[in-house]
Amino acid sequence: MLVHTISEVREKVREWKKQGLTVGLVPTMGALHAGHKSLIDKSVEKCDKTVVSVFVNPIQFCPGEDLDKYPRTLDADEKLCNEAGVDIVFAPSPKEMYGEGHIMSNDFLTYVIPPFFYVNKLCGKSRVGHFDGVCTVVNKLFNIVQPDFAFFGEKDRQQLIILKKMVNDLNIPIEIISCPIVREESGLALSSRNKYLSEEDKKDALALSKILFNIKACYNKGVTDCNALTETAYSYLNQKHSLEYLEFRDENDLEEKKTADDGTIVFIALKIGEVRLIDNISLRA
Ligand code: AMP
Repeated sequence: MLVHTISEVREKVREWKKQGLTVGLVPTMGALHAGHKSLIDKSVEKCDKTVVSVFVNPIQFCPGEDLDKYPRTLDADEKLCNEAGVDIVFAPSPKEMYGEGHIMSNDFLTYVIPPFFYVNKLCGKSRVGHFDGVCTVVNKLFNIVQPDFAFFGEKDRQQLIILKKMVNDLNIPIEIISCPIVREESGLALSSRNKYLSEEDKKDALALSKILFNIKACYNKGVTDCNALTETAYSYLNQKHSLEYLEFRDENDLEEKKTADDGTIVFIALKIGEVRLIDNISLRA
């Protein structure tokens, strides 16, 4: 069932709650693929009812980013959701979410701002304000749907860590369920932004997963010095790659690691032309 308004979602969820049913929420920006589907399947399996939100959230895009050209495929998304047993696809307009005039500046909108220590690194460094937009919209979705469980992918690991922190700090009574990264057979992590890649670019994009898999293989052989592990990456890079970061950080609080251990996540971001891709891997076996 496709729903565009907040009041319709609320009404439905109220009925479910009266019947004592559990509710799962899968927040997405649409252009759904097998990565999103894995979150949806988990929710459908775990919860009595599942709501998938499809909303390209304008306030999490920085100036000059791909807000206008971000793929929008609502018909196909709705079909995928129906086939997966989703109860509601919630696809609000920006106006429905942010009101008349799409008030998006923090002069006029109440924002949820995650801690500086969590956002002054990795993607937060180049995408200033991005995680403010993410936390704000996820909070709104939590308040609209009031789910018992919310499902997020490890593909966006910094986001996942920040959202867990937000739920903990603000005592939000929702359990965050993290879901493993779904990859193509080649190793490339699925992403809606892969649609921007040509066949040639896709080959270059394999550098991300190759670098991460190689680092994990070296760690498994006993290398723990993060500088030494970083060195192994360079042979996978060519002139088309512009490496934004390759960093080793703690899985809970994003503290930098000089020596890798099982609680370390290796984060990578690189650009191929104009397309910016991210990936990460946990060093836990
Ligand atoms: P997005 O539509 O890109 O905002 O993603 C919606 C949710 O799907 C987020 O929690 C992402 O982390 C998750 N997701 C996206 N791609 C993947 C993937 N390849 N594997 C697992 N989860 C994913």
